[in-house]
Amino acid sequence: MELVLYPDPALKRPPDRVEVFDEALRAQVQAMFDLMYKSKGVGLAGPQVDYPRRLAVINTSWEPKDELVLVNPEIVSMSGQEVDEEGCLSFPGLMGKVERAKVCTVHAFGLDGKPFEVTGEGLLARALQHEVDHLDGILFVTRLSPAERQALKKDLRELETKWKEKQKPKRYIRK
Ligand code: ZN
Repeated sequence: MELVLYPDPALKRPPDRVEVFDEALRAQVQAMFDLMYKSKGVGLAGPQVDYPRRLAVINTSWEPKDELVLVNPEIVSMSGQEVDEEGCLSFPGLMGKVERAKVCTVHAFGLDGKPFEVTGEGLLARALQHEVDHLDGILFVTRLSPAERQALKKDLRELETKWKEKQKPKRYIRK
């Protein structure tokens, strides 16, 4: 499993809902947590690992008890506002200030297929909004203020150049 990086168009394609809660889904979730921890992130969404399903994992404390699996999540309420630094595993090395709701409630299904609601504040609220955005094909850079986006323009260009380089076919080496 590899991270899909900006500006890969797969990141902007809203994924399909999860319909089947099976062993394969559980394995997918485990692999996503593993990659998230390895990459030092606090959240990861399906499209970021080329898994076009409405699935995200979050753990803002990295304590096993705080692992949060969100299947088919939808935001049901938001309140307050807060500006804070935010990053994304699909944008290595890039951080920007984003305004988000301070408190956010999400309705989702667990791996057992049962519905539940989770309310987060601060970092958890931010992660919930960031991951549900991914599942709607929205990237955090589109939520930057114009000034912030201007400040990060050069870094974004660099990511675009790197990504384009990676798409080129590998040179055939004759032995
Ligand atoms: Zn992200």
